[in-house]
Amino acid sequence: MRKSTFVKWKFRQAAFIARALASTDHVVLAHIIPMRRCNLACGYCNEYDQTSKPVPLDVMKRRVDKLAELGTSIVTISGGEPMMHPELDQIIRHIRSHGMIAGLISNGYYFTPDRIKRLNDAGLEALQISIDNVNPDEVSRKSLRVLDKKLRYLAEHADFHININSVIGGGIKQPEDALTVAKRAVELGFSTTVGVIHDGDGTLKPLTETEKQIFHSVKKLGNKDHARLNWFQDSIAEGKPYEWRCRSGSRYLYICEDGLVHWCSQQRGYPGIPLEDYTMEDFKREYKTEKWCAPTCTIQCVHQVGILDNWRDPQMTPVQIRREQKQKERVGQVLRAE
Ligand code: SF4
Ligand code: SF4
Repeated sequence: MRKSTFVKWKFRQAAFIARALASTDHVVLAHIIPMRRCNLACGYCNEYDQTSKPVPLDVMKRRVDKLAELGTSIVTISGGEPMMHPELDQIIRHIRSHGMIAGLISNGYYFTPDRIKRLNDAGLEALQISIDNVNPDEVSRKSLRVLDKKLRYLAEHADFHININSVIGGGIKQPEDALTVAKRAVELGFSTTVGVIHDGDGTLKPLTETEKQIFHSVKKLGNKDHARLNWFQDSIAEGKPYEWRCRSGSRYLYICEDGLVHWCSQQRGYPGIPLEDYTMEDFKREYKTEKWCAPTCTIQCVHQVGILDNWRDPQMTPVQIRREQKQKERVGQVLRAE
């Protein structure tokens, strides 16, 4: 990453954080899925298929327009494997044309020098690659040995921020691989984070003693900003529930390939409203709604968004929200009658 791009990136990060702290009336981060299909089939993953078609560009552009209308600061393209989408660059350009930060999550398989340069030209600003192990096995082929050449290409040609996420838990056989991956990431000049893999419904699988030790060593190596924001992980690693306010459905949105808004990748179906029909009323309701799955949730990015509002606006259970809504309606009826 060039020095000038790095400074611009830091400035844009500071600007979206300041805006998010100043006001709660906009989306901070949206994950958008242009393609559910993936070239891999990781054993712990419930976010891919092997047959679906790419979402057409004009449909993706309309979804991006709607996210801009909701005041979204960051749009991260995820999957499946989004690099398989034939018009990925145009989607990135469209995000940037609205002034939003454009991010990408990929398994890294499709990076070549030429492809990286085209992503530079499109205006990509941040990339995250998760690497699960050093050598491929039956659980995962997102492996350092397979991807090291791609990482070297990225180190040489990419003009965007790169974070390498290593993982612990979820059936990964050699937890010490996470440390090898993190060291290699630092060596190549990337930032690094570590995630605890969630199980099928997005909640916690307790770590073993060895996993815990490795987890803390990798965290020490990693990005200090992320480490500060991810203190919830210490509770999660201990297998303890963590108290926080999940703002998914409002400050964080997950838009699936069918264009529906979900709380997150692991809670698809709630609220399940088409993005084009999503209103500030939906946004406000979800902002206030306490999520039953929050205490054992391991989804890093939603935790980080939650921190921005954790100190304000306590949440209510869906039952309490419905009760409050009914009371408001009753008061409205009485006032109208009078
Ligand atoms: S590469 Fe990512 S999307 Fe594809 S199967 Fe693995 S975890 Fe799932
Ligand atoms: S707490 Fe929020 S991010 Fe975590 S699983 Fe539940 S809805 Fe998803």
